[in-house]
Amino acid sequence: MRQSLENMYSQLGISPEVLSFGQETEEELKQRFARIDETVEYNQMKVIRAMQENRVSDIHFQGTTGYGYNDLGRDTLEKVYASVFHTEAALVRPQLTCGTHALAVALSANLRPGDELLSPVGKPYDTLEEVIGIRPSAGSLAEYGITYRQVDLLPDGGFDYEGIRKAVNSRTKLVTIQRSKGYQTRPTLSVERIGELIRFIKSIRSDIICMVDNCYGEFVEQREPSEAGADLCVGSLIKNPGGGLAPIGGYIVGKTSFVEQAAYRLTSPGLGKEVGASLGISGSFYQGLFLAPSVVGGALKGAIFAANLYERLGFPVTPNGSESRHDIIQAVTLGTPEAVIAFCRGIQAAAPVDSYVTPEPWAMPGYDSDVIMAAGAFVQGSSIELSADAPIKPPYAVYFQGGLTWYHAKLGILSSLQKLAEAGIVSLKDKR
Ligand SMILES: *Cc1c(COP(=O)(O)O)cnc(C)c1O
Repeated sequence: MRQSLENMYSQLGISPEVLSFGQETEEELKQRFARIDETVEYNQMKVIRAMQENRVSDIHFQGTTGYGYNDLGRDTLEKVYASVFHTEAALVRPQLTCGTHALAVALSANLRPGDELLSPVGKPYDTLEEVIGIRPSAGSLAEYGITYRQVDLLPDGGFDYEGIRKAVNSRTKLVTIQRSKGYQTRPTLSVERIGELIRFIKSIRSDIICMVDNCYGEFVEQREPSEAGADLCVGSLIKNPGGGLAPIGGYIVGKTSFVEQAAYRLTSPGLGKEVGASLGISGSFYQGLFLAPSVVGGALKGAIFAANLYERLGFPVTPNGSESRHDIIQAVTLGTPEAVIAFCRGIQAAAPVDSYVTPEPWAMPGYDSDVIMAAGAFVQGSSIELSADAPIKPPYAVYFQGGLTWYHAKLGILSSLQKLAEAGIVSLKDKR
């Protein structure tokens, strides 16, 4: 058995040395993985219960066209999301084109000229800078007279409660809290910490809307931020909750009045949730949500495996090998451009799609250095599928995430190590 597995890995380009280094690393993670499986089990039951409660049936997988009036599949899916997230309402649509769009809709729907938006957790995700107008941009909130204030986290990663209290004023209408660190070095926030922050904000003024950017965080824990006081939670369906099957989409869940504002903004005043044809893709939204807890579990195992593997080799990793996890992103600081390129080529070589393609760094719009990206995905740009990217600049860190199955994530990480070993960047000889 062992022999034939080794043989199979060798056909995929993984040497016996790399494989056994990986197997030793995995051996030490048994307990960690068992705890992830417990979360997967809990969240799987949560999703099944939500589907049963809302009497999901095969008629819900039929699509509508045109206006999409009385789209039963769409409306029932929104009830299922509301059950999963424990919220009053949900907006789950293919017309929400991505996470950034869902966040932009939620923000612009619930803010009016003269209002102020506050981020108490530092700079938000890159694409949000243009939505807000931190970087001047056509159609930004700033252009509509909505101001923005930011309070950074303290050097130790804690909330600057004093600073937040000072920043809140009579115009503060909405607070945006990003759960994941995204591509920064700050810690990712646990649902518990998000709950503490929301309680503090509500203690200053209870009418401030608390919104959480939940991207990459769904199903990592047993509770979602909407169960810890968030008025709105927003995310992308080509990340965690789409389970790899949703071909497009975003969601906004929360209090009815705020979700309805978002629906009027997404479609039109007067129309709201009543329109928006599902075009026959509802089935993949349901099935993706059903698979999502397992898929997220696999991605988490991959992230933890990589952290431990590269930590053993002496590379700085964030989060580190033993930290608790609140999103699925893993950063590995490799220190040189050659290493970053080799790593990404390894991830690409392990993909089920486009494995024969060689990723190259290029000058991507919106970035101040060349960027290299590896992805061989069924859904283009899907980052719940195994993917990696890195700006070619110091400290030469690579960020990676996803993996629809744990064994694919494992192969991808072994393949990255294989490329590093072949390039002479790491040696496994003295490590075993
Ligand atoms: C991915 C991401 C977004 C943006 O989502 P897109 O689908 O890429 O537009 C926003 N915030 C965070 C934290 C993210 O990880």
